[in-house]
Amino acid sequence: MWEKCKELQNKLLRMRRDLHQIPELGGDLPKTRAYLEERLQEIGIPFEENSFDSGLIATIPGFKDGPVLALRADMDALPITEENEVDYISRHKGCMHACGHDTHMAMLLGAAELLFKNRDRIPGSIRLLFQTDEEGAQGARRMVDHGCMDGVSAVFGTHIGTILSKEIPAGTVICTPGCCMASFDKFIVRIHGSGCHGSTPEKGVDPINIGAHLILSLQEVLAREIPAVKPAVLTVGHVEAGKTYNVIPTEFLLEGTIRSLDKETRDFLAKRIQEISSQTAALFRGSAEVQMIWGAPPVVNDPAMAKLVADCAREVVGAEKTIDHVDAPNMGGEDFAYYLEKAPGAFIFLSSSNKEKGSDVSHHNPRFNVDEDVLWIGSALFVKIVEKYFHIE
Ligand SMILES: [Zn+2]
Ligand SMILES: [Zn+2]
Repeated sequence: MWEKCKELQNKLLRMRRDLHQIPELGGDLPKTRAYLEERLQEIGIPFEENSFDSGLIATIPGFKDGPVLALRADMDALPITEENEVDYISRHKGCMHACGHDTHMAMLLGAAELLFKNRDRIPGSIRLLFQTDEEGAQGARRMVDHGCMDGVSAVFGTHIGTILSKEIPAGTVICTPGCCMASFDKFIVRIHGSGCHGSTPEKGVDPINIGAHLILSLQEVLAREIPAVKPAVLTVGHVEAGKTYNVIPTEFLLEGTIRSLDKETRDFLAKRIQEISSQTAALFRGSAEVQMIWGAPPVVNDPAMAKLVADCAREVVGAEKTIDHVDAPNMGGEDFAYYLEKAPGAFIFLSSSNKEKGSDVSHHNPRFNVDEDVLWIGSALFVKIVEKYFHIE
């Protein structure tokens, strides 16, 4: 059945371009949802809208009760002004599908059409999860909290683009066992000092001096406290303090992110940020307030499900375009991780990197684009996964 996806290529391209023109942000995506609903209605697939955001769940019932297999697409875009010169450029100013989620929806709709046509061959059912706010790491968590994974026996999702490397040619499928993406969390530290004249620092407590010590001390956690074989990142990306050269301000603000591949390292980093912040501040007579904003956990693929995907990929794109092992996971994050905490499954990367077509640009760049020729592969993979999972001959 998956071969038929090749015939859907033009339709997939059209749907992707339609969606590309109406990017929306976060959890409120009315036009995107309306578009998906129209397509689902055309096919005849019943769906239910989320009551808490613009996501929706559609169900393809098979010929009998059986395992429920979930397939996911994310729907949200980014606050970026598109710089591509294409006739399907974003019509929503300052907003752009710069991560390829437009293609994810199109590819899942394509798979859904084929699976619905062949529903009398499926001994179970397919649940289509269209989620909002992947970029804010909120959409998947919200849906999971509302029970979207209840009764699901396996879950799969795809990300298009250049995530692993722009050197991997378009049409390559990558699916690896175990951890494939990191957790991502944000931390905010507010250092409180006591403001005074720059000529008499002894009369106050200088939060900038404390902040400078803190930025360097935080890196010691990676250098001296985490085993070299455990990948972890601690980046300070935003600092703010003071307004002018001769005034010692009262506060220093520092924001950053931590990435890790396991819960132990993640918890340890958070604990040490707390301790080092408050103790460094205390050391120099100030105080610190630390806030952790937890993002998604690491994306951990089930080995058997990752193998199933790789086997499917070998049939759809060939062994030479299938990668089932990489040296290191990606330190980026994905809220697909929340689904994988509830059921075994796998997250799949589909490369769309093509230098000649200019689609070898980084995600979240105003010139991000995809090689649209790979769209059918995304649909075909989903269909093939269903065939293999349910042993449909
Ligand atoms: Zn993104
Ligand atoms: Zn993305």
